[in-house]
This record gives sequence, structure tokens and C-alpha cells, in this order.
Amino acid sequence: MNGPRRLALAAFLLLATPLALAQDPPVPPAPPAPPTPPAPSGPQGPAAPATKEDAAKEDDAKSDAEALEALVLKAMPLVEKLRGGKFASTPPVQPVTREQFIDRYNNDLARVLGGEERVAATSRILARLGVIEAGADLRALLGSFLQGNIAANYDPQTKKVSFLPGIPRTLQIMVHELTHALDDQLFDMSAQIKTWDGSFDRALAYGALAEGDAESIEMRFFTGGAIVGQPLEQLRLQADAMGDAVLRQQFGGTPPALVLAFKSQYTEGLVFAEAVRRSEKKNGAMDAAFRAPPASTELVLHPEKFLAGQDPPVVLALPAPPEGAKVLVSTTMGELGTRIVLLAKGMAVKDATAAAAGWGGDTAALVSFPAGEALLWTSTWDTEADAKEFYEAVKKCFPVKTGEESAKTTRVAVQRGPVVEFVEAPLDALPEAVEMIRKVERR
Ligand SMILES: [Zn+2]
Repeated sequence: MNGPRRLALAAFLLLATPLALAQDPPVPPAPPAPPTPPAPSGPQGPAAPATKEDAAKEDDAKSDAEALEALVLKAMPLVEKLRGGKFASTPPVQPVTREQFIDRYNNDLARVLGGEERVAATSRILARLGVIEAGADLRALLGSFLQGNIAANYDPQTKKVSFLPGIPRTLQIMVHELTHALDDQLFDMSAQIKTWDGSFDRALAYGALAEGDAESIEMRFFTGGAIVGQPLEQLRLQADAMGDAVLRQQFGGTPPALVLAFKSQYTEGLVFAEAVRRSEKKNGAMDAAFRAPPASTELVLHPEKFLAGQDPPVVLALPAPPEGAKVLVSTTMGELGTRIVLLAKGMAVKDATAAAAGWGGDTAALVSFPAGEALLWTSTWDTEADAKEFYEAVKKCFPVKTGEESAKTTRVAVQRGPVVEFVEAPLDALPEAVEMIRKVERR
């Protein structure tokens, strides 16, 4: 049987160093991207440089590559010492153009989602949840944000570190990227990524683990270890301040809530990684976290639960769709994803954070019924009070439509004990959608 289509955001496996926001150490802005050079064709490879200028450019590229290689050798022992562990091999490094970077990102996203058509279905479910606008293309929105906001990245598929043009070749950035490379050599990230099963929540949780570790090692290097003296509560406040700042900024056409999901991997990830690394087993605790990664963003946002082995997420399994219906995409939003949805719907940070807390498990799906597409979002909460709080938030963020609008899109939200069910469907598809969400199994 074909399982329901799951979604994941490849942006969350980019393992990149994002460019700085206002409160971060300053990084000069990237110059505009150069025009794309014509692609080399034919088996003989690129032609010899035609002009002196081209030859000079090739020399520059060569010395850039050599400088990056030297930087790798300088950063390796620093990362080994701070992270704990030995490189099995020297990670390859290369300068890439913004076009090459975006091409790879576009292909990665489609591949992780399971094909071009799922890129569209994923965009539609995120639009239903209000994270992006109706009709918007997730890949284009993330791509345009990343294009201007990525300094470097590590790719667990090719095992290569890439630096983008116009980005200073600093030891700090290299330490960050080589932390990813070492974690990958030690714990095989590609194998971990395969276990996400399309879950937005799992993708973000793993992203926070990987980016958090790289941020933690980068900051320990950058501050000469002083970050260890900074209480976790202070790091948490900094993460909150970043969230506030992102939600007040403009990122071209990319919704701030989507940017926040991306950025949270770094800020929430740093708090998580520092909490883990400061625990009794230190780097050994981080190793254990990579061997058994946090199963949900709830455990990232509450590292004390992760360290105590508490609160594994409840799985809510959709039943097979009725005759003539099809699950287009299904995913888990998690505590962080739920918070992002509420923030995207305009809820204040404090309220959205409180409403998403107490999360126990959820499944969101876009289902095609003969009468039209419906959003089904079911969730379970630690207590009835948590469920009630989320239910009130859903009613506020997804108000019932009236008049002619109600025939096109009807909304029903129900709280039953610790469970909250939310359906948005065309009126004629509503009975089938409600019947389906009622048959969700708790595992
Ligand atoms: Zn990174």
C-alpha cells in the first residue's frame, strides 16, 4: 500500500551558515550575483580561457580554492578538540556560485519531497495553514530567501563544504561547517535524514540538532569558551529576541514565519546543544543525541525532557481515505511548527508559544475528495487544559466563515478531551473529511 505522502523541507538539510541578523556579529553584505557563465559542454570539458580577463578570473578561483583548503586544515584540529572526535578524512571544500547553490537546493527540495508534484502539494498545505499565501510556491519563497542569506554550507550527500561568493573566508564559518562534516563522518546524517518520513517536525528537530551543535562549537570557538559562562536562560532570551526581530522584518516576498522556522534551527538549536553539552556526559551526551536524535521539536524546545528521556511524541495515524479520495500530503507540525502556524496567523509571540506548549502529537494532511481538497489537522495534548488552550487559539486564528464564503470553505474545530480536530473543507466534502479525521488512530 502506498503510504500517505509526507512532506519535509529540504531547506532544513542545507546545514548552512546563515548570514547574520541585526544582533549577530556584522558580516558585510554579499555583492550582487554575477551573471551565469555559459555551461561547459561536450566531453572535452571547459574550453581554455579566451581572454586575459578570463585567465585572471581562473587564477582567482584557483587561489580562492587553495585558501579554502588551507582554512580547512587550520579548522580541523580546533573542531576535533572542541567537538570531541577525529576526522576520518579531510573534508573537501569548494567555492560555488549562487546559481549553483540554488540549482542544487531546487533539486534537493524536489527529491526530498518525492517529486515535482509534491512541491506543489506541500505549498498548498502550508498555504492552508497560513504559513505562506494561497497560490505561493514554497520552493521559490525559500530559494529567494536562501539566495541572499547563506554564507556557506555542508552537503551530507556530496560530503563537501561550499562557500558562496562575496563571503569572507573566516575560520569561524569554517569551524561551523566542519562541525557538520565531523558529525556526518561520525553519525551518517544521510541515513538519519531518511528516517524523517516527510515529517516537518522531525526535519526541524534534526535541523536544530545539527545546526545547534555547529552553532555551539562555533560560539565556543568565537568567544574563546566564554559562552559556557552564559546561563541557558540568557541564550533562551536571545533566541526569543531573534524570533521577535524576524517577525518584524521583511524578507522580500518570503513570509517572516517561514524564515523563523529556518532560523529557529540555529537559535533554538544552540540552546538545545548547549543544554546537552553542559550535561554530565558533555560531548558524549551530544554523541548520544546524534545516535538517537530528538523525535520532535518539543524535545528541542525543552531539552530537560530530552535529557530525561521523557515525553516521546504520540503518533496519530490517518485511516485509509474513502473511495475516490486521496491523501496528497501529510506531515507532523510539532510544537515548533504549531507555534509557527499561530504566529503566521498573527498571534502574539507569547500567546503562540503558550498555546503550542503541552503538545503531544499531531498529523496535518491535505486530502483530495471528489468535492474538493480538505485540510485535516488533528492533535493530542498533554492535558485537557493544554488542548483547550490550543482549541481556543485555532478558533481565533481560523475563524468560521459565513455567507457565501462558507460554501467554498467550511471550518470545523472540535475539542474532545486531550484531542483537538480541525477540518477546513468545501461544504460538500465536509462529511467525508470529518468521518476520516474521526477514525485517526493513536499509537
Ligand atoms: Zn550549519
